[in-house]
Amino acid sequence: MSADSQSKTETSADLATAKTAGSTATAFRDFTPYKAKKNEEYMSEGQLEHLRNMLTAWRQELMEEVDRTVNHMQDEAANFPDPADRATQEEEFSIELRTRDRERKLINKIDVTIERLDTEDYGYCDTCGIEIGLRRLEARPTATQCVDCKSLDEIKERQIHG
Ligand SMILES: [Zn+2]
Repeated sequence: MSADSQSKTETSADLATAKTAGSTATAFRDFTPYKAKKNEEYMSEGQLEHLRNMLTAWRQELMEEVDRTVNHMQDEAANFPDPADRATQEEEFSIELRTRDRERKLINKIDVTIERLDTEDYGYCDTCGIEIGLRRLEARPTATQCVDCKSLDEIKERQIHG
């Protein structure tokens, strides 16, 4: 377990991310790209540990965000006697609840990914079996498909749903 991945989360960068709602819900950006050694095997112990650390840190960040949302809603609940204010507040809450729901789903996805990683069935495309690639996994550690299969699926998806 490397020390830098466990660094404190309350950096100014993190506070900035927290302000843009849901930004951590798409990817985890606060990491140092992995430097593979010469001839290093794909999904070596080092790479797996690096990605596991990323997933764990990302999960932690999302959990904190969920907590923040709950606290925020508890603090603000029922403080507006004016119906117009209350409507605005309810709208705000529903956005927050959606964000929280998305975060929860993502946390589940991260859990599944960590489990996959631990059983060493990780880093290969579910559809065609090729290496997903370290850089792509760093950008999207929960990816289960290579770029090509993913794009193809998205095109199919669009054709089905118009
Ligand atoms: Zn593929």
